[in-house]
Amino acid sequence: MQNTNKSKGMHGSRMKVILPIIMCFVILCYLVGCESKNLTQEVPLKQVHTPSPEHDTKLVETVEPDHVRSIENETTRSAEPRISPSSKATMQKLIVIDAGHQAKGNSEQEPIGPGAKKTKKKVSGGTRGTTTGMYEYKLNLIVALKLQGRLQDAGYRVIMTRTSNEVNISNAQRAKMANDAGADAMIRIHANGSENQSVCGVETISNTIDNPYNGDIYPECHLLSECLLTGIVDATGAQDKGIWETDTMTGINWSKVPTTIVEMGYMTNKEEETLLTSDDYQNKIVEGIVAGLNQYFKIN
Ligand SMILES: [Zn+2]
Repeated sequence: MQNTNKSKGMHGSRMKVILPIIMCFVILCYLVGCESKNLTQEVPLKQVHTPSPEHDTKLVETVEPDHVRSIENETTRSAEPRISPSSKATMQKLIVIDAGHQAKGNSEQEPIGPGAKKTKKKVSGGTRGTTTGMYEYKLNLIVALKLQGRLQDAGYRVIMTRTSNEVNISNAQRAKMANDAGADAMIRIHANGSENQSVCGVETISNTIDNPYNGDIYPECHLLSECLLTGIVDATGAQDKGIWETDTMTGINWSKVPTTIVEMGYMTNKEEETLLTSDDYQNKIVEGIVAGLNQYFKIN
């Protein structure tokens, strides 16, 4: 009996030792389970700035929660004066529009970024329509001036780097104009060209996250590029060529403000050139840029 009691006692004391161990094990398993859940939740966040052809869908997925949050914030701030979302987004925002190129290119060299040893032409000649013969610098200015009017109508403040084709302003100087003005965004208007005349579509250009001159503003440059690309594709139905991330653009590298280049389409593609030189299509591009910019300021 004693032995039995003793064995019962021993069994009881063993349980006292084992139970806490089991409890610890269960708690540990639970914690590990939570950790792995967090890891899987992080995956979509990492995709935010990954360039890929499906960026449209990613924009919707990643942007929506912020948008919803900002609407919630607005409803809770009932003491503040009522301002419509669009006027709030555009209020006092300063946009610099740079119509790419000029009547005569300037082949003098300038550093491609602050402190860079590598240099490029101050202003290259740009492309030209293969059917109409329209010069890119002319088309860029036509659309840039339309955009200026439309943005001002929407409540933005606008500074133009040029309003004439007869100027001589380097790409670095254009970026410095946006820096000096403290612009909220810089939009550089360009059109594309290719030896392959079947190539067409809209593209925007951003710096890369590793840009040695202004990599710190990559998230804003990329988001601006993404919003404007989506806006233009939605407005025009043009082919989406995606965002080109590069650190070779002098006018982006010198910029300290969120900057994108809009390549509106290919002047070397017959159908797209016809569209690009038409008033209606230019208006669609402008509407797309305005919609994209409104979206950018809603979420940034
Ligand atoms: Zn160009």
